Amino acid sequence: MTQSDELFERSKKRIPGGVNSPVRAYQAVGRNPVFIKKAKGSHIFDEDGNEYIDYVCSWGPGILGHADEEVINEVQKACQDGLTFGAPTRKECAIAELIAQMMPSMEMTRMVSSGTEAVMSAIRVARGFTGKDYIIKFRGCYHGHSDGLLVKAGSGVLMQAVPDSAGVPSGYTQYTLIAEYNNCDSVAKLFEEYKGKIAAIVVEPVAANMGVVQPKEGFLEYLRKITKENDALLIFDEVITGFRLAPGGAQQFFGVTPDLTTLGKIIGGGMPVGAYGGRKEIMECVAPLGNVYQAGTLSGNPIAMTAGLVTLKRLFEHPEIYTQIEQTTKTLADAYRNAFKDQVCVNQIGSLMSVFFTKEKVVDFASGQTSDRKKYADYFCFFLERGIHLAPSQFEAMFVSVAHHKEDVEKTIQVIDQYAASQK
Ligand code: PLP
Repeated sequence: MTQSDELFERSKKRIPGGVNSPVRAYQAVGRNPVFIKKAKGSHIFDEDGNEYIDYVCSWGPGILGHADEEVINEVQKACQDGLTFGAPTRKECAIAELIAQMMPSMEMTRMVSSGTEAVMSAIRVARGFTGKDYIIKFRGCYHGHSDGLLVKAGSGVLMQAVPDSAGVPSGYTQYTLIAEYNNCDSVAKLFEEYKGKIAAIVVEPVAANMGVVQPKEGFLEYLRKITKENDALLIFDEVITGFRLAPGGAQQFFGVTPDLTTLGKIIGGGMPVGAYGGRKEIMECVAPLGNVYQAGTLSGNPIAMTAGLVTLKRLFEHPEIYTQIEQTTKTLADAYRNAFKDQVCVNQIGSLMSVFFTKEKVVDFASGQTSDRKKYADYFCFFLERGIHLAPSQFEAMFVSVAHHKEDVEKTIQVIDQYAASQK
């Protein structure tokens, strides 16, 4: 029995499913997870001494690679000064200023401790500011596990959401409406039907939780236009795309400015951090200035702020990073396309990528669902056995970091070619 298998058996007795977040259990790929002992750069090492090139990057935060020397040094220094104060600090001020520089729509920012909290809070602010209750989200987009967002499409013609988890009363999702990503008509219909009642649209500007799906030309612009026309707010959930597609996130990449933005992952440099923010007049609704309540014992934690600040500063001062990681990702995407021809659909944008096992072009939620999950599981296991760690689910993104070097890419391409040959 491997160390990973043994630890999994032990963990299952004390932790639901043996893991602290469901996808880590590898259920979708039909094998036991590997337990990770340490990580450095683009590589992770499991408890059995196996080494893997890592394209999960902790689900996005690891844009600089694992255990970046400067981040670790600064965090170690910060620890000497105390782990948490529950009082304002210079670093919180500095990170809010830096965020505003990198992402000018973030005139004001509130730090929280996860992406879930960030989106939940931004929606509360949108409702408080507009005085309206309904929100629109898109089928297949993920915004964390808060009650009102853990929804699937209902059976009605106009899509009112129903809970997608036991334990969520239907009343909690009654104000969530579901539209189709990349489909402007579905949004227009909801605005007609719920005229004057919609507080906000929340959207992943690049969908990355149905696999990576780019916005069609004009889609984000349309969301901007219809929200403005209806006195509703546009919330970009940039928990994945923020600081990944560009220093200023997807809003810089596409040139569409939302009213509110939610951030997570990279902003914490590997520590548990989220943030939400946007236009000053909207953020002034938040307590203690306004009457929208939101708080957090560990919000703006000094160690987390340190890791985040070092990471964001590096990205801000070295925009060439974005060219490098995009090029690495493009090289990988081309290798998949060459090896598999029309047997797979590869969606790549910046340093985000998904390989869908379908012959269809994946442009929305429905087309993504045509991919063959069994094939994906087989592909995942083939790669893991050859030292490459991919997302253990068809519908997650592949993340590339600055630390992925030529040798990593060459080895990955070898395995891509081997796998494609084994399928003929
Ligand atoms: N929003 C998006 C787009 C995400 O991808 C995620 C998590 O993957 C979240 C929100 C929730 O963030 P967290 O897991 O930090 O709560």
